Amino acid sequence: MGKALIIGCGGVASVAIHKCCQNSEVFEEICIASRTKSKCDALKEKLSGGKTKITTAQVDANDVTALIALIEKEKPDVVLNLALPYQDLTIMDACLATKTHYVDTANYEPEDTAKFEYKWQWAYRERFEQAGITALLGSGFDPGVTGVFSAYALKHYFDEIHYIDILDCNAGDHGYPFATNFNPEINIREVSANGSYWEDGKFIETKPMEIKRVYDFPEVGPKDMYLLHHEELESLALNIKGIKRIRFFMTFGESYLTHLKCLENVGMTSIEPIEFEGKQIVPLQFLKAVLPDPASLGPRTKGKTNIGCIFQGVKDGKPVRYYVYNVCDHQECYKEVGSQAVSYTTGVPAMIGAMLVMNGTWRKPGVYNVEEFDPDPFMDALNKWGLPWQESFDPQLVD
Ligand code: NDP
Repeated sequence: MGKALIIGCGGVASVAIHKCCQNSEVFEEICIASRTKSKCDALKEKLSGGKTKITTAQVDANDVTALIALIEKEKPDVVLNLALPYQDLTIMDACLATKTHYVDTANYEPEDTAKFEYKWQWAYRERFEQAGITALLGSGFDPGVTGVFSAYALKHYFDEIHYIDILDCNAGDHGYPFATNFNPEINIREVSANGSYWEDGKFIETKPMEIKRVYDFPEVGPKDMYLLHHEELESLALNIKGIKRIRFFMTFGESYLTHLKCLENVGMTSIEPIEFEGKQIVPLQFLKAVLPDPASLGPRTKGKTNIGCIFQGVKDGKPVRYYVYNVCDHQECYKEVGSQAVSYTTGVPAMIGAMLVMNGTWRKPGVYNVEEFDPDPFMDALNKWGLPWQESFDPQLVD
């Protein structure tokens, strides 16, 4: 069918690339391009022998000119951005200049402000429309599958959805006192920021970890979870008809939270540069350098993730409750692609998003979030490509 250019070669990219190679009918060719080319070459080596033709390249994705040159050389049908949120806009600029479709998994965040919002990427809408190309934003799990779940619920079971609770549970144990399951810098920026939820047309801000609930997750058991701000709240609030409240909860163990508090208290999570031995360093970036690489957690992590959405609303005037979720086993993921479930649950939907844009199923000129497309082909693909979902019409609710 075609060719994808994948930018970034970290935890999520590695899974997406494995999945593209399993799906060689669609991904006949891929080019893996990242800041450190040796990682791309190592992955190419590991996956050689399959049907997908793989090439690699070095690129600094902050450099629009270099990106344009790479896209012109490789001529991909779609660019799948699996670098960091800081690179979203430069990669979108390069896609515009070369009229190439764009897919990512995380919204843009300026490096000097820990504030992720869609406004910067939504500002590209008209330019993508005029260029006749599609940008698909947030095709990971959350955001990503959570938006697809929302569109699916609305399409099949509700006239109006009034309440959405997104529950992200990672019950995996990697045996370290403290480590993050994906890029530590991005992860810690997310969890140390104020929380917020959407209610009656506006965001209500909370202190970090202020709101705690316990939820008994299917196949996992009861876990403490905390309300966080999360990027899909912003797009779902606009795109889901009748919505009154959306909340996002993520589980954290006590050890993780105690370590994080301590690191915060001593200033290690700050993104303000400080001078150290005559050099400017960002404490959070230094912390990232001393923490275990998320990619190294794969072989050690045991247990499951359970991520899903609970919807409440009405159909034909009657109240409806609906819970749809995926359970993923860290060790099964490791056996299949050499990564733990957090990278797996993001990398699989990234491949699916790129596939649907590439094969034309999800293609319309402009900039879109996943819930703006027909959810059915994505839901089918989740079952086929390793993230089967389950549903319940009588779930435990979150108070
Ligand atoms: P990693 O840190 O493991 O990987 C990031 C990759 O991007 C690395 O290969 C890195 O290169 C490369 N990179 C960084 N800067 C540049 C640059 N300037 N030019 C080229 N390449 C660059 O991160 P993850 O794989 O954990 O996360 C990838 C993305 O997925 C992030 O945006 C993250 O926010 C998102 N994500 C989304 C989720 C969702 O459910 N929607 C969940 C989890 C993550 P190098 O090897 O040189 O460092």
